[in-house]
Amino acid sequence: MATPAMPEVQEKTLSRREAIVGDLRAIVPGEGVVDATNSMRAFENDGLTAYRQLPLVVVLPETVDQVSRVLAYCHENEIRVVPRGSGTSLSGGALPLEDAVLLVMSRFNQVLEIDYDNRAVRAQPGVTNLGITTAVQDEGFYYAPDPSSQIACSIGGNVAENSGGVHCLKYGLTTNNLLGLEMVLVTGEVIRLGGKHLDSEGYDFLALMTGSEGLLGVVTEVTVRILKRPETARALLIGFPSSEAGGQCVADIIAAGIIPGGMEMMDKPAIAAAEDFVKAGYPLDVEALLIVELDGCVEEVDHLIDVVERIAAKNGSTTCRISMSDEERATFWAGRKAAFPAVGRISPDYYCMDGTIPRKELPRVLARMRELSGHYGLRVANVFHAGDGNLHPLILYDANEPGELERAEEFGADILKLCVEVGGVLTGEHGVGVEKRDLMGTMFNETDLDQQMRVKCAFDDKHLLNPGKVFPQLRRCAEMGRMHIHRGQMPFPDIPRF
Ligand SMILES: Cc1cc2nc3c(=O)[nH]c(=O)nc-3n(C[C@H](O)[C@H](O)[C@H](O)COP(=O)(O)OP(=O)(O)OC[C@H]3O[C@@H](n4cnc5c(N)ncnc54)[C@H](O)[C@@H]3O)c2cc1C
Repeated sequence: MATPAMPEVQEKTLSRREAIVGDLRAIVPGEGVVDATNSMRAFENDGLTAYRQLPLVVVLPETVDQVSRVLAYCHENEIRVVPRGSGTSLSGGALPLEDAVLLVMSRFNQVLEIDYDNRAVRAQPGVTNLGITTAVQDEGFYYAPDPSSQIACSIGGNVAENSGGVHCLKYGLTTNNLLGLEMVLVTGEVIRLGGKHLDSEGYDFLALMTGSEGLLGVVTEVTVRILKRPETARALLIGFPSSEAGGQCVADIIAAGIIPGGMEMMDKPAIAAAEDFVKAGYPLDVEALLIVELDGCVEEVDHLIDVVERIAAKNGSTTCRISMSDEERATFWAGRKAAFPAVGRISPDYYCMDGTIPRKELPRVLARMRELSGHYGLRVANVFHAGDGNLHPLILYDANEPGELERAEEFGADILKLCVEVGGVLTGEHGVGVEKRDLMGTMFNETDLDQQMRVKCAFDDKHLLNPGKVFPQLRRCAEMGRMHIHRGQMPFPDIPRF
């Protein structure tokens, strides 16, 4: 796949590479600077594996002071920087640039403080999402947002992408569980936002930073809230003869005032792939499968199971199993959690989309997706965070078949446009990165994008942090609000356009 158009490479940076590497070694000594091509290969892509690019140099700092000095050096010398956590982004957010330092935060891997009284954990950004829960689980606590990649993705990356997971319907996304941040600005200045308390003074910069995809600063410390594990949790596995019936059941559960701990749906192709892979006992004769997890105290969960069972029956469910043990509940989830690799077994390649729609639009979107699938001649398997309307259509294709990749990309773009058309948004939890950058115009008008760019300019007026990501075209701070073309002459001709 051709890498999407990126900002023009800065030759002045490339030509000084050796000197830059030397200067960076003086800041991060030992093995903290990697410049050999073979060693840099490990960093040439993130989870959006179709795009690859070697960075200028990889820097793995260990201290906040090193991050600060690296950024100050890059700022002074106008060198671009791409921050990276574990590199699991599915939207190309951590894709390196040829002329940019790849600032990898994986050596920031310590849990710094566990404060049970305030139900908060302070951790370095390279700690994995699961690492937070592992640190507190012996005391019966956990960190709620649980991306499927939680074993590998970093908490800093979660902040940058505002990541979610199956339990976010009830317990919120990263943004709802983040209490404080330490960040280094592109100038090298260190700022602290929030703390262990729920509210903070002044503008809500914490919210601004959450989901900023490495464009506003580098996260060097994270404070998150932890929750006490519920007394019990049980899951229902409910089959429906149509996706429409499953979708209506989801709407009715929410309308009844129930917020399940998790509520996920899979369509027939996804069910078949997951069952074949995991043997979770999924029914194969249904069109849609809903997993509803209810948590709380035993009496509450028993009551809610009855209510959900009745709602499901009213919507024509054809099968309903209720987990009788934690092991069985884990088995119900195993298929869903392995849905991506399961689909990987039935197709040489797949393209994972991420869009969000209002829940009630699910039947309409599914019907249109089926039409698009016929139009493009490509199969699609669907898994959804059904409760919050977040879709993950997996488009199956074979990169070795001429034209299939391009068709998959077009199909994916049509799905995202459809999400926006029905009142939804381009991304649920995977970010914009390079993948959805060029679709931002379907969601935002020029004024919206200009205003977002003004925020970017306030933090990074030289556009050194993660350029080429998120914003569909160059809006240089220098030209904000005053772009006039005179007799065909482009203003600021030195500024690269992509
Ligand atoms: C199999 C699989 C399943 C997934 N499932 C989910 C899921 O269920 N839910 C979900 O939300 N996502 C999911 N993802 C996507 C991905 O795991 C998340 O986006 C995750 O938060 C990325 O974290 P990371 O540490 O890998 O970040 P990276 O991929 O390294 O970087 C992601 C972005 O964050 C920025 N960044 C990283 N660290 C920092 C930092 N310290 N300071 C500033 N910016 C930084 C980067 O510049 C980049 O823009 C999945 C990915 C895979 C491969």
